[in-house]
Amino acid sequence: MNNQHPLPTQLFDKRQLITNPVELITYEIDAGFDRGKPDGVFYPNSAADVSRIMRWAHEHKVPLIARGAGTGLSGGAVPEHGGIIVEFARLNRVLDFDQTGRSASVETGLINLVLDALVKKAGLYYPPDPSSGRSSTIGGNLGENAGGPHCFKYGVTTNYITGLEVVLADGQIVHLGGRALDYPEYDFCGILVGSEGTLGIVTRAELRLIRNPPGVKTMMVAFDSIETAGQAVSAVIAAGLMPATLEMMDQKIMGMIEAYSGAGLPVQAGAGLIVEVDGYPESLDAQMEEMADILTQNGGHSLRLAQSEEERQKIWYGRKSAAGAMSRLAPTFYLVDITVPRSRLAATLADVDQILEKHDLRAGHVFHAGDGNLHPLILCDARNPALMGRVFQATDEIVALAIACEGSITGEHGVGIEKRKYMPVMYTPTELAAMLDLKQILDPHGLLNPGKIFPDTVATPVYAAPVWPTTNPFAPASTQEAAAGLAALSAAGQRVQIGSHVNQVRSDGEVWLSTANLRGIQTFAQDDLYVTVSAGTPVHELQTFLRDYGMQAPVAAAWPAMSIGGLIATNFNAPLRMRYGALRDLMLATTVVLADGRTIRAGRSVVKNVAGYDLPKLFVGSHGTLGLLTDITLKLIPAPRAQRTLCVHLDQLALATAMAQQLLAQTLVASALLVVEGMQIPGAPVTPYTLVYTAEGVPEDVNAELAQVAAIVGAAGRLAVTETSLTGSAIWTNHLNRGTDGLLVRIGVPSNVLATMAHQLPRLAGQQDLLDFGAGLIYTVLPGVELEAAQAWLANVRQLAKAQGGYAVVIAAPPSIQNSLDPWGQQPEVLPIMRALKARWDPAGILNPGRFIVD
Ligand SMILES: Cc1cc2nc3c(=O)[nH]c(=O)nc-3n(C[C@H](O)[C@H](O)[C@H](O)COP(=O)(O)OP(=O)(O)OC[C@H]3O[C@@H](n4cnc5c(N)ncnc54)[C@H](O)[C@@H]3O)c2cc1C
Repeated sequence: MNNQHPLPTQLFDKRQLITNPVELITYEIDAGFDRGKPDGVFYPNSAADVSRIMRWAHEHKVPLIARGAGTGLSGGAVPEHGGIIVEFARLNRVLDFDQTGRSASVETGLINLVLDALVKKAGLYYPPDPSSGRSSTIGGNLGENAGGPHCFKYGVTTNYITGLEVVLADGQIVHLGGRALDYPEYDFCGILVGSEGTLGIVTRAELRLIRNPPGVKTMMVAFDSIETAGQAVSAVIAAGLMPATLEMMDQKIMGMIEAYSGAGLPVQAGAGLIVEVDGYPESLDAQMEEMADILTQNGGHSLRLAQSEEERQKIWYGRKSAAGAMSRLAPTFYLVDITVPRSRLAATLADVDQILEKHDLRAGHVFHAGDGNLHPLILCDARNPALMGRVFQATDEIVALAIACEGSITGEHGVGIEKRKYMPVMYTPTELAAMLDLKQILDPHGLLNPGKIFPDTVATPVYAAPVWPTTNPFAPASTQEAAAGLAALSAAGQRVQIGSHVNQVRSDGEVWLSTANLRGIQTFAQDDLYVTVSAGTPVHELQTFLRDYGMQAPVAAAWPAMSIGGLIATNFNAPLRMRYGALRDLMLATTVVLADGRTIRAGRSVVKNVAGYDLPKLFVGSHGTLGLLTDITLKLIPAPRAQRTLCVHLDQLALATAMAQQLLAQTLVASALLVVEGMQIPGAPVTPYTLVYTAEGVPEDVNAELAQVAAIVGAAGRLAVTETSLTGSAIWTNHLNRGTDGLLVRIGVPSNVLATMAHQLPRLAGQQDLLDFGAGLIYTVLPGVELEAAQAWLANVRQLAKAQGGYAVVIAAPPSIQNSLDPWGQQPEVLPIMRALKARWDPAGILNPGRFIVD
């Protein structure tokens, strides 16, 4: 036994604490290669238990290491410095499953596939699907921000977590986010996801679910070489198709798997690609035919389309047997995990093969080709140091390939112990220091999973030399100029307001920092599905540019002049987020100048990157109080081939909300489901309420979904239904803009209580509401409202929203009452941590004073 640290044997039931050295051996390792001896293993039964042991650990300065199923591959749950493992096996209940609101609240020891099976019975789907899903836990999945075969189309774990209950390093239990969306707080929920247990121990997660696609088709396609297969994948993406999966295997691994599983893989071919499409049954044949055409035109042959569920499972059985097949051939295997931009896939595979050959290593490739996440599997034997030396040398060279092409050292397995030495190669000292700021705020004594992610020493960050701006407004034309100016302003304690207009002159002693000169497209990587755009670029300018290439950044501007930076900073999500994800899901990276003159590139331009803390999340919705965004990298989506909007004209709110709720359960390709009050929609009658439903995607899916909408609407009686060329998001913009002279409020509640909330809302003269059912948000416009009435209305609404776990924030107010209204109406539990971060990154408190809850 290690016996380095004291143990809380008196504090807990002895069935909760393992100290027997023999039993502890199991906990020395996860599924990777690193080892460490724990002093004890603690089984909590509740968050309160975790809090108690954390307080004890805090007092005695003992490390705590959260552990799910221990399937991590980078040493994340290994107690390298001793201490107590907090093992989540008993904290595995589904606390709430809300079918209508499509969400679940679960304890973090719940196994991924148990959740999946439960929600599938109700026709719902939790997309993050690591191959280890049979045993890995939701806590471990969020610790590593796990992904899987379906993440190309549906995203990774962070895209499905809306709230967390977290035990902090001092034992305090806090709630981050919740079941509503877009809470007015820094997105620490997004930071905790992927933090590998180093910032807090998560005891409960609020998960977002989607509808399980009603149909799926799977096909195996053979290629002569892996390079040809890589090019075919690029051709599929370039054609604007969005398959559910694109899983690739090379010849070597197919041979190994086939000998083990007999799954019928095309072993004579150089590579095999599993392609899956999903959607309405009506669309599957057309989707698959088009896919097959593109693949055959690009060298695909021997197409094998699964004709039954059994055959489909057989194809997947082959893919999923990779680990088993490898275990048969060698005592163990080493699984490398890197991400490269998709367009570099074929070239990187060739380079990786050369490296493996050079080091005389036997390996195969099986990987998620759609998102550029490569996984060379190298056969090895941990007892053979010479062989392991070659394996690790080859890994160093493979990881270097990823870094050289702006990829990531890890796409899904995390940094842990295994990859921490590469962190200073992938990130600058300044970027690492910004991450370590978070660690120091949340875990000042380094007790949470010590030694993980970061190397022991990090070089000194770089600060820009201060240069006092010669003009007010200060309109820097480059990141460097902005950094020099902000460093000077910060040193002088000069307050700065950031905006995108150049002509706004402040009279109250503040400097106006305009992003107007930070304008234009910097990089348009169509094959890699991303665009990097300067922060001051108007949203409409970006959209116009992308339209010519058949692409879209699926965002919409609330106001005509809104810039990309303004959109991100205010986290203004249009209804189309229900189809494509929110801004926090779409922003891959951003260059940020912190107030003290440090410049960081937060994130990278690849869709899968779990190296270090997910810093981009912090800048979404932080209202420019943490740093100046100078450029933004957004995920691109092919423009939809079909887009239709139905409007149902209704007299009563009750019927409109009941119908919307019924429709919500059916949405698969919907990009808006709204109920809007008294809106004039061109070519349609003005009725008290209009239900707006937009569907977009391939024509067969869109038509099938709208036929379903028409059937549900038809069953409600003879109602006026019209079709408009406007999208739901355009109608939302119109609604926001009818409130420009009045008070505009956003109310967020869990989706399942949106209708109730709408009915309970107090009413004032001229009030007009828009209900966004996809997001659980209400946008209320109150024209010509007096201060007292506005205050009373807000107080009432905030009380109602808070009772449901929601909030109400003022988006815009007439100048006459603006300064007398509290825009936020609440203090998030995470506020002290927000303030601590603000103090580190903006020590003089100069950035956007008064603009956000943090002041
Ligand atoms: C055969 C195999 C296939 C795999 N396939 C995939 C794949 O397709 N995609 C993928 O992403 N990964 C994959 N993995 C890696 C691994 O399964 C995932 O990282 C998984 O998410 C780990 O879950 P776990 O419950 O085993 O967590 P653990 O390994 O126990 O822990 C992982 C990390 O999360 C932290 N953690 C655990 N619980 C909590 C908590 N409650 N609060 C805070 N931190 C916590 C731990 O401290 C640790 O840092 C695979 C692994 C194997 C062995």
